[in-house]
Amino acid sequence: MLVPVEADQVVAPALWDEGSEAHGSTIGDGGGRFPAPGVFRRSPSLLRMAAIEIDGLVKRYGSLEAVAGISLRVAPGEVFALLGPNGAGKTTTVEILEGHRRRDAGSVRVLGHDPETGGRRFRERIGIVLQSSGIDGALSVRETVDLYAAAYPAPRAAGEVLEIAGLSDKSNARVTTLSGGQRRRLDLALGIVGNPDLLFLDEPTTGFDPSARRRAWDLVDRLRDLGTTILLTTHYMDEAQHLADRVAVMAGGVIVAEGAPGDLGSGDAAATVSFRLPGHVDRTSLPTPFAGVAGDPVSVRVEDVTAVLHALTGWAVAHGIDLEGLTVTRPTLEDVYLELTDDG
Ligand code: ATP
Repeated sequence: MLVPVEADQVVAPALWDEGSEAHGSTIGDGGGRFPAPGVFRRSPSLLRMAAIEIDGLVKRYGSLEAVAGISLRVAPGEVFALLGPNGAGKTTTVEILEGHRRRDAGSVRVLGHDPETGGRRFRERIGIVLQSSGIDGALSVRETVDLYAAAYPAPRAAGEVLEIAGLSDKSNARVTTLSGGQRRRLDLALGIVGNPDLLFLDEPTTGFDPSARRRAWDLVDRLRDLGTTILLTTHYMDEAQHLADRVAVMAGGVIVAEGAPGDLGSGDAAATVSFRLPGHVDRTSLPTPFAGVAGDPVSVRVEDVTAVLHALTGWAVAHGIDLEGLTVTRPTLEDVYLELTDDG
C-alpha cells in the first residue's frame, strides 16, 4: 500500500489503525529540503551525510523489546536490505524510520530529519511502498498517478513514472483490470511519483512470478542508477543478493550480521571443495585435509582454498587421476542467513 506523503488525509489506513503512532506534525521541521541525489556526487561534505542513521534504537510493546538497541547507517544512493525471520523487528524499525511509529530510546536521522518531528518536508522526500495496495480501482492507471502526483510539490512527470514502472501501455487501463504484477508495479510507480530521495520497499516482489520479479528488479536497478536511496525488506535471499549493496540480518530485535551480500559470513574465506574419485584410489594417499575422507563425492570445508587446491590437483596430476566434478562452493547468503537466524 502506498502512503502519499503530503496528503495526510489519504494515508494508508493500515498505518493509522488503532495502535499506530503515526502523526503528521510539522513541528520542529527546521531541516529544509534534502539535497537532490546528484548533489551527493558533487559535494564531499554531503557525501559524508548518511541517508539513514540509527543509533541505539529501542522499541518496546509492553514487556516485549521488539527492537533492542540497533545501530546502522545507510549511505546516500545505497540499496540496503533488511532481512530476518517473522517477528525479528524489521517492520517496527522501518515504521520508525518512516515516522509512523515512535521510538522508546535511541536516535534516528532520516535524510537529516528526525522522522518523529520531520513533518511534511520530511514526508515529501520519502516514498513508501507497502505490501498491499488501497488504490481506487475505478480510476485509470494514468489518473491514479496524476492523483498522487498532485500531493507532491515537485513530482516526476506521469509519463516518466509510467515508463520507469513499465506501465506506459497500460496508461488508460482501469486499475481493476490490472494483473497482480501490474498492480504491484503501479504501487511502485506511486512510490516514486513524488521523486523521493529515499524509497522504502516492503517485500517488493512477494507473490510475483519469476519474470515479473526480474522486471521489478530491473526497476529497482533503474532507480538506483537515478540515485535513489532504497531501504527494502525481503524474505528472498536471491533478491537481497541481486539488489542490495549491503544487507543487515535482524533476529530477536538485534542486528546479527551486516555487510555486502557476498561478504556476509564468508569473512573467513571458508569454502567447500568437492570431487569424485575413481573406485580404485587409496584415499589415505590423498593430501591434507582429504586423506582418508569417505563419501562420494568427497566434500570437505577448507579455509586456505588456494593452497589446498594446489596440493589436491598436484596430487591428482602426479597420480594420473581425474577429479571428476571438482567444485569450490562458498556459502550463499541463504546459507549464512539460515545459520544466523537458526531457521535452518
Ligand atoms: P515479519 O517478517 O513477519 O513482517 P518483522 O521482522 O517485520 O516480521 P515486526 O512486525 O517488527 O517483525 O514485529 C516484531 C515483534 O513485535 C513481533 O514479536 C510482533 O509480534 C511484535 N509487534 C509488532 N507490532 C506490534 C504491536 N503493534 N503491538 C504489540 N506487539 C507488536
